[in-house]
Amino acid sequence: MTPPPGDLSKIQEILLGGTKFLLTSHARPDGDSLGSQLALGRALSQLGKDVRIVNKDQIPELYHFLPGLETIEILPETDSLVDAVVVLECSSLSRTEVSGLNSETIVNIDHHPGNTMYGTINWVDESACACTELVFELIEGLGAELTPDIATNLYVGTLTDTGSFRYSNITARTFEICRRLAETGIDLAAIAASVYTNGSIGRLRLTGRLLDRMKLEHNNQIAVLSVDSAMLQEIGCDWDDMEGIVNLPLAARNVRVSILVRETNAGLRVSLRSKTGTNVRNAALAFGGGGHINAAGLTIEKPGPKSLDTIISRIKFAISDSEE
Ligand code: 5GP
Ligand code: MN
Repeated sequence: MTPPPGDLSKIQEILLGGTKFLLTSHARPDGDSLGSQLALGRALSQLGKDVRIVNKDQIPELYHFLPGLETIEILPETDSLVDAVVVLECSSLSRTEVSGLNSETIVNIDHHPGNTMYGTINWVDESACACTELVFELIEGLGAELTPDIATNLYVGTLTDTGSFRYSNITARTFEICRRLAETGIDLAAIAASVYTNGSIGRLRLTGRLLDRMKLEHNNQIAVLSVDSAMLQEIGCDWDDMEGIVNLPLAARNVRVSILVRETNAGLRVSLRSKTGTNVRNAALAFGGGGHINAAGLTIEKPGPKSLDTIISRIKFAISDSEE
């Protein structure tokens, strides 16, 4: 593996030199944010460090099997009486939605393009397929043992952030790291089953309802799924059950972009997914959101009757842009 970049060695110094750390990530946690925090948390504990993990939102049930999950504290604010706050998988400090993260040393480890470099030390590598890829290198650099529990967390981040090894950001490094994770003896098939074949019947029904009501635009190139809390209530689901459903319309040959619109109390929460070649990140940025080229999101706090049409127009532009 390549030698660690400068920022990585500085991060190692901070973590090996200190004793108390607070780890956090973005609100509405996903496999990569949880896997990154839990893996690094365990590695630091192994090295005798005092570690707290603080997240704003409850952990979706899907991820309750992750080793160490019970150590995460769900809090909207915290003190930062630690040697460093380590923020993982988070493009800006405000996306943690946790207040009180004002330690003198903030370590920012991420793979999102457009990271605002809010840390006192920043290690942002957009070429990483998941933040867990970076955490693997960090753990190795710290000299912590790669235990099966750590490997499980790292594997889940990689598996979910690459769409089960399908997205364009996977590289030889991804598989090299996964080889090392597999060597710890973790049950790869059981982990995949926990993530992909352990959902509720309600989720299955919700998927059916959403696909049945799917709208297609722009010569079938744009699929739009819409859900509100009334629909969830009727089927007996909650917002957690939505995880991953936005990807399904991309299974059709003609669909290039999938839009999932959630009508919530906080406004319209929009997820965008695209096939390789179409950039939805810029569209998300245009509405104050962000994310990756093929997976991005945004929130419209005060939606009007034309909000969705405006987003669709911007996506049409993204599609015509990719055709040039
Ligand atoms: P999701 O649709 O799963 O919520 O988000 C997809 C991707 O876009 C994730 O990488 C997520 O971090 C990013 N993302 C979603 N919403 C926002 C947002 O409002 N701002 C920024 N900067 N990134 C977002
Ligand atoms: Mn990620």
